[in-house]
Amino acid sequence: MPLKPRGPGPSPGGFRKNSVFLFELRLFHHILCRMKRYFDTENDIEEVLEYLPEAVCPHCGARGALVRHDNIWRSGGAENGLRGKRVFCDNRKGRGCGGTVAFWLSDTLRGRCLRAAELMRFILGVLAGSSVWKAWKNAETGMTIRTGCRTFTRFVDTQSVIRTELFGLTPPTLQGKEKTSLSATLKILKETLGVNAVSAYQKTLQKTFP
Ligand SMILES: [Zn+2]
Repeated sequence: MPLKPRGPGPSPGGFRKNSVFLFELRLFHHILCRMKRYFDTENDIEEVLEYLPEAVCPHCGARGALVRHDNIWRSGGAENGLRGKRVFCDNRKGRGCGGTVAFWLSDTLRGRCLRAAELMRFILGVLAGSSVWKAWKNAETGMTIRTGCRTFTRFVDTQSVIRTELFGLTPPTLQGKEKTSLSATLKILKETLGVNAVSAYQKTLQKTFP
């Protein structure tokens, strides 16, 4: 009978143990990364920053390495308002990873000049049956109609993402039939999260509005 090779070969169940370990590691990392990122007011962000010495970096898992970094302003500077605050994972003395973490006001739409309140005014206009041009004008964003058209197209492209996210919040069933799937999505958004639905989406789901 041939002898089994000795040494650190794959033990029975070893692969399974490894995959369970990797799963637990991923789960642990996922929990670490679930840091609250959207807040209603600057004071709410400040409250969180008080606990920075005990916080864990979502990038590298280091505890106590996060320090205040800077404020994030709307284009045009401080007079146009705060968008959020950034903290830095201090990599001096080999502690952290040098990454940054941003805490956002829920009225801020990341990567866009538009504010959540302005976008919501546009949505309410569209829902009221106004044309894209009129709804954009009434939203008083100060931006061109071209941006309005792009914003509308973005709704069309991302409506399935919005619908999927809202599904987890058990949205109410719509009464009556909507003309298009987009108007149904926007109506569900408003009926689930209220008249400030865009910022409520970011604060409730802790995700950027698509
Ligand atoms: Zn880090």
